[in-house]
Amino acid sequence: MLSTLTATQVAFLQVAVLQCVAAVFWALGAWFVREERAALAHWAAYAGLSATTWLMLALYLKSPPLLAVLIGMCAAMALRAGIRRFVRRTPDWPLPLLLLGLVLLFGVWIDDDRWRPLQAALNFGVLAALYVSMAVDLGRYARDQLRWRRPWLLSLPLLLGAFGFGSRSVRAMLWPESLWAEMSVHSALNVGSALSYIVLVLLMHATLMALVVARLVSQLQRLARRDGLTGLLNRRAWRELLDRQVLNRRRADDVFSVLMIDVDHFKAVNDRCGHEAGDLALKHIARLMTHSLRTEDRIGRFGGEEFVVLLHASKLARAMAEAERLRLAVMASPLQHGALSVPLTVSIGVAEWAGGAEDPSRLMLRADAALYRAKHLGRNRVETATDEAAPALHRPAQV
Ligand code: GH3
Ligand code: MG
Ligand code: MG
Repeated sequence: MLSTLTATQVAFLQVAVLQCVAAVFWALGAWFVREERAALAHWAAYAGLSATTWLMLALYLKSPPLLAVLIGMCAAMALRAGIRRFVRRTPDWPLPLLLLGLVLLFGVWIDDDRWRPLQAALNFGVLAALYVSMAVDLGRYARDQLRWRRPWLLSLPLLLGAFGFGSRSVRAMLWPESLWAEMSVHSALNVGSALSYIVLVLLMHATLMALVVARLVSQLQRLARRDGLTGLLNRRAWRELLDRQVLNRRRADDVFSVLMIDVDHFKAVNDRCGHEAGDLALKHIARLMTHSLRTEDRIGRFGGEEFVVLLHASKLARAMAEAERLRLAVMASPLQHGALSVPLTVSIGVAEWAGGAEDPSRLMLRADAALYRAKHLGRNRVETATDEAAPALHRPAQV
């Protein structure tokens, strides 16, 4: 059977097999990657439909049925809808459906060989338009979300596809007979286009796969740096930030301060109102801190009911004022939980980086000692670190 096939048919079948494999791959991806399921399922549909088209083209080379053309269009529409879902744009079906209707109308209405080249021009033109619109969507995504300096690079496979379909459409209009003659028999044009399509499709699948992987990795990185309850930086991420800050400041000879914040009598909140209310109280305080501090100040959840803040370009006096503002804000905003109004207060230890030789651990010890003093002196207050405080710590170091 294989020996009776022409090189064109074999080339078309190769594209069909490649798209079949891609369809299985994307379907598995849609199964496993729940966050991007909609986009990946559309790409699975694209690859499956495209495989069907190429199979039909291989079987009915001399006069491909209208159905093959329509399935090919649907494949491109599914690819486009997947891309729009991935870049978080709403899928707009009216325009592609209108184009599909046009192709269908033209295909059914004109059943005459003389008009075939014009039909081909229309079909390739519609495909080129769909590819251009996908290239625009991906280019915008690369520019606005990924902040690439050359966003068109991401659209390159789609632009190549648009060029391929577009040039065929133009050829079909300018030299209808020669194109149609070449398309409907075994020809170098057909083998060449199938091979180019293989390269294009591989490039496109690789690009989409890289986009999905990149998004998953960045989501994982974000999760690894954030506290699950409050969304603030977690202890490790905050500490890395502090280490970097000390390194940078050693070079720039600038100042900054650290606040260590502990919720007062938090165990009693849990005991009286329940653990769920305790969780809400922590979120509530995290929100208050985020709103009352500047965006460049970095807030972290150090663990349990303890928070830390890195105040950029702040000497001790300014840091004390910020801490006091924060303390008053918490005191003025009790947690509303059902019928309950749960009063909350915090104690805050403040330490300014002593510069030069002070390493992050010692700075944290001083902030911790200041916090201990605030607790010791009655809670709901702001205290500062003194140089003598650090060596005389009364409670185990937390850093
Ligand atoms: P102090 O004023 O001395 O800080 O007293 P405290 O009760 O706040 O301190 P203590 O260390 O005795 O208790 C801290 C409590 O915080 C104990 C723990 O159950 C609670 N806690 C820690 N993490 C969480 C959390 O994620 N959610 C809730 N609801 N409670 C938490
Ligand atoms: Mg504590
Ligand atoms: Mg506490």
